[in-house]
Amino acid sequence: MIFFNYFQPTVIIFGAGRLKEVGEVSERFGRRCLLVTVPPFLEFKPSLDRVKSILRRKKIEVEHFDRVVPNPTIEVVSAGARLARTFRAEFVIGLGGGSSIDTAKAIAVGATHKGTCWDYLYFRKTQPTDRTLPIVAIPTTSGTGSHVTQVAVVTNPEERNKSALSNSRLFPRVAIVDPELMLTLPPYMTAVTGFDAFCHAFESYLNPRCSPYIEVLALECLRLIVKHLTDTVNKPSSLELREKMAWADTLAGLSIANSAVTLPHGIAMAMSGLYPQVAHGQALASVYPDIMRYTYKSAIEKFAKVARLQNPSLSAVSDKQAARQLGDELENFIETLGIKKSLKELGVIESELSLLAKASLVLPDYKNHPYVVSLEEVKKILYESF
Ligand code: NAD
Repeated sequence: MIFFNYFQPTVIIFGAGRLKEVGEVSERFGRRCLLVTVPPFLEFKPSLDRVKSILRRKKIEVEHFDRVVPNPTIEVVSAGARLARTFRAEFVIGLGGGSSIDTAKAIAVGATHKGTCWDYLYFRKTQPTDRTLPIVAIPTTSGTGSHVTQVAVVTNPEERNKSALSNSRLFPRVAIVDPELMLTLPPYMTAVTGFDAFCHAFESYLNPRCSPYIEVLALECLRLIVKHLTDTVNKPSSLELREKMAWADTLAGLSIANSAVTLPHGIAMAMSGLYPQVAHGQALASVYPDIMRYTYKSAIEKFAKVARLQNPSLSAVSDKQAARQLGDELENFIETLGIKKSLKELGVIESELSLLAKASLVLPDYKNHPYVVSLEEVKKILYESF
């Protein structure tokens, strides 16, 4: 028998050139918009200017908050929330990668609630209310799926801690997914963000709570990424490939929004808290093969299925053999993408591995893995990846 729930309130406007619809999309949310981005740089300016001019043509006043940093901090979100309040913003647009979209989401809460966004983390009693400003998400990377999730990831540098708000009020009202915006993403960021999307789909699928609905979304995402990510990294200006990756990323976001990530994300989140300079997808790539080698016995059929997506010749061997091979297949994939780095190469300090292991078991992600590791086991995995 099949039982499941699936909830997804975000309207998805997908396709090359559809950024032009941002005016019509936005006017229903008001006349005063806080636009949230990273500081403008050469390749980003044309998209930014276009959004501003389309909004102004629709007589929407725009205040630009351009202080987003990768792995956004409480301080940045609070500065954006203050600006939103002073400007009396009626809605926010997050234009950029996951960091910009998450900052926009957290500002939507911070601007309309007491305290800081850190007071509204997923486990707090007090949660964001209906006062949360409407959010429009326009991704320029294909990795986090944040444009279709209820999650905003925030870093607390004082505590060296990364955590998340997770509440259905944070689902963007509209996501405009225009693959033209991703054409300028450099190869390295294309690789690490694409690998992040792979992990969202794989972990949503591995999660024992994965529904038949998520299975369809996640497996299609994995198929697309295995087939197209390496080519996208090598040919970043191909619109056709960018479109495949944008679709894969959206599928991955739709998967995590109704399933959840597992042990690798628990570790990667802890890594970003301790080492915020490491890109999120890179943190995942550095621990993935060792986690898979350690835990493959817990869900042989699923591991085998993904191993065969990577290497169809594994259809000739048993599920157990194929599942065991997944760690090596992933290591090859990561090497082909040019993002194979040990934890040591990422700047992780050996004497902090125990601290990292402890921090990896703070978020509930690791409990979603088909095999729930102990502290000693995480340490062992981290030493392998070091
Ligand atoms: P990012 O937003 O941090 O961007 C990385 C870099 O790429 C930045 O310097 C940015 O300016 C640049 N960039 C972005 N788009 C570009 C483009 N089109 N051309 C040129 N440069 C471009 O990277 P990300 O991986 O998209 O986001 C990572 C953040 O998202 C992390 O904080 C992570 O924890 C979070 N995250 C959130 C969710 C969620 O559901 N909310 C899921 C996964 C990850």
